[in-house]
Amino acid sequence: AHKVDHDYDYLFKIVLIGDSGVGKSNILSRFTRNEFCLESKSTIGVEFATRTLQDTHLTLMDLTVKLVDYVVLHRTGLKHGTLKPTLCRLYMLVEGKTVKAQIWDTAGQERYRAITSAYYRGAVGAFLVYDITKKQTFDNVQRWLRELRDHADSNIVIMMAGNKSDLNHLRTVSEQDGRALAEKEGLSFLETSALEAVNIEKAFQTILTEIYHVIS
Ligand code: GDP
Ligand code: MG
Repeated sequence: AHKVDHDYDYLFKIVLIGDSGVGKSNILSRFTRNEFCLESKSTIGVEFATRTLQDTHLTLMDLTVKLVDYVVLHRTGLKHGTLKPTLCRLYMLVEGKTVKAQIWDTAGQERYRAITSAYYRGAVGAFLVYDITKKQTFDNVQRWLRELRDHADSNIVIMMAGNKSDLNHLRTVSEQDGRALAEKEGLSFLETSALEAVNIEKAFQTILTEIYHVIS
């Protein structure tokens, strides 16, 4: 199949969800910075960071991925009533196909339970994050699953991440409880630490690979 008027063969939209303060934005920035050595520059109203790596071959489980271009668009013009999600786009070559992964982060709307259905529309993957030191954020996972059921495609691939695993001494949710819920609900599961960069890459690798296998 030859390309028509867009620059990719597959488009994956992935949304980040979970209570405020669980570490969604840091998971995303830790992943992008660690993996891709982001260089950022600011322009008026827009924080924009881009880096092109021509010859970086990454192993995405059994897939060979070549990062072609990488762009992060941070939230812009945040004012009362005009909350905008953060978009992170990754362009990759996967088995000869160009895959565009578009990762959406909220700009704090979850605090006001004001995430709109546009945020979920077209998403093929979701990162559902809770904080292992805050039981309430784990209890709210059910609420987020309901939100996904109401607003997202029923085939959406969900990765649940118990974040802040570096704060083991403050833990109020056991890893077993996380795993049990994931099994019950049919979700992938990992405990992560954005602070110490533990399982962040693996979490993204897992969800992207699962989506690729679902889509292709
Ligand atoms: P969001 O509201 O879900 O986007 O959460 P943020 O990414 O803004 O993080 C909320 C707070 O948790 C910030 O103070 C972060 O520094 C902190 N945080 C995020 N991830 C981790 C982590 O893995 N470990 C620890 N110790 N703190 C974290
Ligand atoms: Mg955030």
